Order: sequence, then structure tokens, then C-alpha cells
Amino acid sequence: METGLARLFGSGLKVIDSALLDLPEFEPGSVWLVGAGPGDPGLLSALALHALARADVVAYDALVDPRILRLARSGAMLDYAGKRGGRPSPSQPDISARLIRLAEAGNRVLRLKGGDPCVFGRGGEEALALAGAGIPFRIVPGITAGIGGPAYAGIPVTHRDTNSAVTFLTGHDSNGDVPGGLDWDAIARGAPVLVLYMASRQLTKVAQRLLEAGRRSDEPMAIISKATTPAQSVLVSTLGEIVRVPVDIQVPAIVVIGRVVGLRASLDWVGVLARHERGEPS
Ligand code: SAH
Repeated sequence: METGLARLFGSGLKVIDSALLDLPEFEPGSVWLVGAGPGDPGLLSALALHALARADVVAYDALVDPRILRLARSGAMLDYAGKRGGRPSPSQPDISARLIRLAEAGNRVLRLKGGDPCVFGRGGEEALALAGAGIPFRIVPGITAGIGGPAYAGIPVTHRDTNSAVTFLTGHDSNGDVPGGLDWDAIARGAPVLVLYMASRQLTKVAQRLLEAGRRSDEPMAIISKATTPAQSVLVSTLGEIVRVPVDIQVPAIVVIGRVVGLRASLDWVGVLARHERGEPS
């Protein structure tokens, strides 16, 4: 059966009917800062697929799923801009300078980042450098891990009965420490649901700070590792438990704290589908 996606994108998902979707030209000499989503290639936007099919250079980060890179135009140069094999990662100014050089040489430069480019992704810094150098650019949002990850774990980040606010924060600063600049008391009081990026190393300390600031020790927490990929795993615990018994966390991981975590018991659709596929009762 022909699916809607196949009709839209053509066979092999490499060709998009850009007229049907009214997609813009990817002009030579420009840079597109594109979010690749948390992993599942099905979560790419039409603009991201369009850019992959046309880019001359794809400058990608460590968190971009390899299945997504395979969608790049054959002949596109794949340029890795992250950490590899323990070697130090290129500095942010180096990456920005490289994007500018590649665009000035007349390439269509696709800067592909995990999740959303502007959510803890330094997209803003790169865009500022491009703007400063007079390079035309476009920002294509992606599904951020802090929303897509919980959705694939059966955890809505807002739910009418539990919370009308949610806070997204990073669990460590640029030195790898618990962010000292954050007002943890205010964060603990600010929203019933907290979503933590980059929290795995400092999770015990973050949980400790939240407990000191008045969050309950029986408050549920979910640690979602490798979200939206075939290797996704979800650990459900509580703030108090994680302080008492620290766990070994597979990275990358997103942490959700709050009563919405309890909804997973009814909404773990990934688990239901997997059991269905194995022929087990759900
Ligand atoms: N720009 C990205 C975030 C980059 S910061 C976004 O919008 O999603 C890197 C952090 O993102 C990781 O430490 C982890 O907390 C989270 N992350 C990214 N991909 C993830 C995935 N597939 N599963 C779980 N967490 C992920």
C-alpha cells in the first residue's frame, strides 16, 4: 500500500515534491541550520529531508542518527563536527569558521544537529557567526529530545490534571558541574514537571538539590536513554531512590521529573507495539 509519506516524498524517501509542499530553494552559498530530531528518521521534517536531498556538504554532530545521514544526496560531503575517539572536539569558533568558509566557496551547507538546533545545541551561536559574516542562513527546527523522548516513553510533558508548566534545563554546565548559576529553589517551585538534558553525570546531585528545595522524595522520575531509537530504554524511579541508589545511565539520556511520569503505566505505546510484534499479550 502506498503510504502518505511515500506519496509525498517519492520512492526511497530521497525526492520530495518541493512544489507540493511549497519548499524553498536551498541556494548555493547558504547555510541551513537543521534539527535532525532525537533519532527516529521518521521524525525528520519535510524541510530537513529536502535539505538532505540537496546539500553539497552535511556538517553533522555526534548525536545525529546514522540512519539519517544515509538519506543525504549521494555525492554530498559528510563532514563530522563532533568528538571522536577521545580526540578533543573542534571548538565552536572553529566549527562556525568552517561553515562560513564552506558557504563562501559556494556550497549548499547543511548544518545538521541532534534534536532542535536551538535547544542546548549552540544553534544560536552558529547563527550569530553566520549573520556576522553576511552568509544567508535558515533555521529549521527539529523535535527536541526533551519532548520527543518523553513522547516515545509514553510521558506527555504537560497534562491537564498534573501541570500547566514545564521547565527544560541542562543538568551540567560547560565544566561538567551542576549548573551553579541556576536558582534551584526557584526551579523546584517553578513547574511541576522538569525535563533535564545532559543530566546523567550529575543526576544524584541534581536530585539532592531538588529535595533540599522541597520536592518530594516519592516524586516519580524517568530516565529515557537513546530515546526514539531501536535501543531506547526507560528506567522509572523516584527522586529519593536515585539519591539513595545511583544508577548506571546509558547516554544520551533525558530525565523527566514529575507526576506525568506515572502516565507511562498506561501510555507506554512503544512497549505495547513491541510486545504485539513478538506475539505476546499486551
Ligand atoms: N539539541 C538537542 C540537545 C543537545 S544537548 C535537542 O534538542 O535534543 C545533548 C543532550 O540531549 C543529551 O545529553 C541528552 O540529554 C539529550 N539527547 C539528545 N538525543 C537524545 C536521545 N536520543 N535520547 C535521550 N536523550 C537525548
